[in-house]
Amino acid sequence: MSTLRGASTFFGCETLNRVSFLREDVEFVKNTLTHGSTTFVPFIRGEALSSNGSLYSIKLDESQSVMKPVVNKLLPILNTSASRLRNSGVNLTFLGLKQGEDSREGVFVYRSQYKGTPYYGIDFHVDSDTLVKPSDIAPLTKMPLLDRETIFEMDNEDASIYSHAKMYLDWLSKYHFCPGCGSPIYPVDAGTKLQCSNANREVGCQVRDARVTNVYFPRTDPVVITAIASRDFSRICLARSKRKHGDTVMYSTIAGFMEPAETVENASRREIWEETGIRCEDVAMITTQPWPYPVNLMIGCLGLVDANGVNEVISLTHDEELLDAQWFSTEDVSKSLEAYDGNGMVRFKDSIRLPGSTAVAFHLIKHVCDKYKRRQASL
Ligand SMILES: [Zn+2]
Repeated sequence: MSTLRGASTFFGCETLNRVSFLREDVEFVKNTLTHGSTTFVPFIRGEALSSNGSLYSIKLDESQSVMKPVVNKLLPILNTSASRLRNSGVNLTFLGLKQGEDSREGVFVYRSQYKGTPYYGIDFHVDSDTLVKPSDIAPLTKMPLLDRETIFEMDNEDASIYSHAKMYLDWLSKYHFCPGCGSPIYPVDAGTKLQCSNANREVGCQVRDARVTNVYFPRTDPVVITAIASRDFSRICLARSKRKHGDTVMYSTIAGFMEPAETVENASRREIWEETGIRCEDVAMITTQPWPYPVNLMIGCLGLVDANGVNEVISLTHDEELLDAQWFSTEDVSKSLEAYDGNGMVRFKDSIRLPGSTAVAFHLIKHVCDKYKRRQASL
């Protein structure tokens, strides 16, 4: 068994109970939006706010909270066309109930069994024409934005709430019109689904009228990312992308977007062959990681290669996405990982860096090293 199973990758720590079945319950949504403990994670035009290096959040009943007047403006227009971003200036999305504080006095309770602090992500795109005005949120606009470096230094709970809110809000801010009939769409189910506003049944909409449709649900883009190892784990193939990482020479695993009608295993094998020329038959999924840039799910795999003079030969001439790919000794990589203090990237050889522990690639490389070491110990 891998030591990874059951552990959370960075951005992948589920701290909230999403109670997804309650999002369409209008009474539940209204109750959460009027409860004093309800906590909002505000974004300004898609960027979260920083409070002393942490993710900024604010409770509804906090003194001088700007949230109460904002929520009072939003409550009457929930689930109507008026709640669209260009009218309201706001995207709101329910994230879940934070549990563990259930015995506390004043905790939110619904139908006597769903307890916890309600969490919402809220993204402001306000101007003088929107329902919520810039003056309504003036204190927030003076706060510093959370930069990417800080995000990767946050604890995983905060980073995961950020990632969760960011992905929903990114989706809500990008989709404005129905792909079936071009009518404006607006959020329903506490900002977790979009709905076509075309109410005229005489004007057909192939999306609205479809028996099964999922186009209104949030988008997640699956990416397969694979650590390639020799069957005996003694060698690992790492690649350097043409994408610049500043002056850093970084080697990592192979990644690419899944395509329609592909299995995870086939997508992994295809990406490996297209990018490195390596023929890898044996692929298994190891772990996954949500990645909010913008809405990816990284599906971490291990690919094992049976060296036979053909399978393992590297060729960068198919896709030409890589600057270099090499087989390295797992022993050497293991030593670098052992010397790693958990901060930033892993130092490998003099000039090479490997991804740090916030990236799923690190855990895949470590998985190969662990397998190698266990194999060595049993010989
Ligand atoms: Zn439509």
